Amino acid sequence: MSSAEKDRIDRALEVRPGSTPRLYQTVAQKIAAMIQSNGHMADWRIPSERELADQLGVSRPVIREAIIALEMLGLVEVRGRTGIVVLEQPTRPISFDTFNADIGPGPFELLEARLAIEASAAAMAAERATTADHAILEACIEQMQLEREVVLLNEKGDRDFHLNIARISGNAIILSMTEALWVQRDHSVMWKKLHEHIHAPDVRPLWIGDHHAVLSAIRLRNPDAAYKAMARHIRNVIDELLEADEKARLNGSGSISARSALS
Ligand SMILES: [Zn+2]
Repeated sequence: MSSAEKDRIDRALEVRPGSTPRLYQTVAQKIAAMIQSNGHMADWRIPSERELADQLGVSRPVIREAIIALEMLGLVEVRGRTGIVVLEQPTRPISFDTFNADIGPGPFELLEARLAIEASAAAMAAERATTADHAILEACIEQMQLEREVVLLNEKGDRDFHLNIARISGNAIILSMTEALWVQRDHSVMWKKLHEHIHAPDVRPLWIGDHHAVLSAIRLRNPDAAYKAMARHIRNVIDELLEADEKARLNGSGSISARSALS
């Protein structure tokens, strides 16, 4: 094989970020096609998120990301107590081309990456933290307690807690990866959309409790416990973001319209 030929094969096999549609984009296209072929029928309702996950063979986080993408296209709306509603008149014509424009990683994809990196960072921090570091982490939790009225997206105490653990891990690559994930979160339109459905005062005490558990494990210099506590915290965030709509609907008294479904 000539070197030119080898180069060509290497280039063809190269993974180019952004060149493959993300899973949620492919799934969003399938749901949009489903709406287009059934939406005109009066008794048709969009399947719930659980049903969509079963039908399309993907996880609920991916369905949630796809629904957010469709919401951003003006095809559906997620209403607190009602669930997914197909808009009678999409605010814009449905353009499948838009799905090709990468609107960034899905929020759950980001959280999965955070879980992988930050749980390991917490374990390393448990081995390396100084007494001064313990005090800094404690101060971050206090800051969170003061931020009761702050929108979750702008929460400094939470961010500082996580980034300090990455710093205390003593590994500069882990720190820069963690920072990059938080920057992506800040710039993610999908992340903001997802948070519209979550009620900050309800979840903050849970997340503060999680942070205390992480700090206790770090204080005890127990890497296994620190790993587990951080993984549990990020899993709790994932669960809250998935269940927030459902809870709002169960607590509410709103009636469910014919074209919507519990998700
Ligand atoms: Zn946190």
